[in-house]
Amino acid sequence: MTRILSYLKSLMLLEFIQGMWLTLKYMFKPKYTVNYPFEKFPQSPRFRGLHALRRYPNGEERCIACKLCEAVCPALAITIDAEPRADGSRRTTRYDIDLFKCIYCGFCEESCPVDSIVETHIHEYHFENRGENIVTKPQLLAIGDRFEAEIAERRAADAAYR
Ligand code: SF4
Ligand code: SF4
Repeated sequence: MTRILSYLKSLMLLEFIQGMWLTLKYMFKPKYTVNYPFEKFPQSPRFRGLHALRRYPNGEERCIACKLCEAVCPALAITIDAEPRADGSRRTTRYDIDLFKCIYCGFCEESCPVDSIVETHIHEYHFENRGENIVTKPQLLAIGDRFEAEIAERRAADAAYR
């Protein structure tokens, strides 16, 4: 019986007609096309975009070179070198992220014990020359310095879910 019904349905093009009816209904509804980049959808505070390294309010960099982010990165996109400073604290001498390898999973920021490496709301960026996909420590710190207010605000908005 089921096979006969299915045969009749395909013979009468019922699913085709249903699809066309749906198309027809949406032809007269308001359109949802966003005129990007002049219009933008609201963005979640947990959006994972371009990376940044953060500092404490006194200007000291947060990263303690524990390398957890490097170890957890599934794409092997992070490269860290580290050595102790004269005051005995451990800091990175190199912190590179290959944005061509990165899959924006957010594991690095989840693993960081001091909220140093974060993924920001920035998603409109591009590269013009070979090698610019490798973002270095000074660049990451500069992004963090520039957008610290937004980063802190977005992390505060999402704090209850972390
Ligand atoms: S977002 Fe994921 S893939 Fe990208 S650097 Fe962080 S851990 Fe690696
Ligand atoms: S960014 Fe965070 S997780 Fe990565 S090395 Fe620095 S302190 Fe450790």
